[in-house]
Amino acid sequence: QAKAAGRNTMRFFDPSMQASIVARANLEHALHEGLRQNQFQICYQPQMDGSGRIVGAEALLRWWHPERGQVPPGEFIALAEETGLILPLGLWVLETTCAQLVEWSKQPRFAHLTIAVNVSIRQFRQPDFADQVLAILEKSGANPEKLKLELTESLLASDVEDINVKMSQLKAKGVRFALDDFGTGYSSLYYLKQLPLDQLKIDQSFVRDILIDPNDAAIAKMIIVLAQSMGLDVIAEGVESQAQKTFLQGLGCTNYQGYLFSEPVAKVQFEALFQG
Ligand code: C2E
Ligand code: MG
Ligand code: MG
Ligand code: MG
Repeated sequence: QAKAAGRNTMRFFDPSMQASIVARANLEHALHEGLRQNQFQICYQPQMDGSGRIVGAEALLRWWHPERGQVPPGEFIALAEETGLILPLGLWVLETTCAQLVEWSKQPRFAHLTIAVNVSIRQFRQPDFADQVLAILEKSGANPEKLKLELTESLLASDVEDINVKMSQLKAKGVRFALDDFGTGYSSLYYLKQLPLDQLKIDQSFVRDILIDPNDAAIAKMIIVLAQSMGLDVIAEGVESQAQKTFLQGLGCTNYQGYLFSEPVAKVQFEALFQG
């Protein structure tokens, strides 16, 4: 045992681990640079209603690094959260999407669109988070009713009273809230009933095999019924086939997002989806 422990302490000098520490430091540095040099972009993924009409878009962050190419959010969001870089990055996402809302509000064919923005817990925990969002809304002139903030269940580990105060402050101006990746985290129904949410998002992990796995179908159905009973809107994410959409529709689902309609695309391509 002692020998095993001794070996464990040597792990620090494991070259592969050292390499990963260096890689992490490099990534962190690159993230700082990326923010300074405008290497980030927002892609928009359409959200459809049952008739196939595009009712909104989820804003998804993209990082175009000059040498690394496109770095997926899965590879940098966690580090951005740990380092605190998610704070300036998150503000940039909000500013960019609010400016987009203003632009769309002036064009009749886009004026109905909502934009859903992912908010990390670290951002939301900022004492002045609600004030920051309201300031961006006001400065941009965007309609708060067209902005939806996506929170995740990990938020429920925080003080529910604090969450409520912030959400209520924003909801008073018309901002809406969705609970993202619903069912994958610590979903406490006790907390759920206390939050002024507008929408539940069925996580894509339940949608993927919904046609072949009866447990996934049961969970999706449970979420839809729960949403209906609580007067909430519901959207399924990761819908890739017409058969999945039809199945979800049969369970009572009302909104859909996924590759079946479109991947997340740049604003110009998103707007082109309305041509057909
Ligand atoms: P999310 O908010 O749950 O976003 C949905 C993810 O599913 C996106 O991945 C999207 O591209 C992907 N997706 C959409 N339709 C399909 C489909 O039909 N099939 C499959 N397999 N995947 C689909 P993406 O863009 O890589 O983003 C990953 C995560 O990164 C997001 O998950 C979100 O948690 C986070 N993220 C993205 N942008 C932001 C941001 O601006 N701020 C914060 N805090 N987090 C962000
Ligand atoms: Mg999301
Ligand atoms: Mg999600
Ligand atoms: Mg996710």
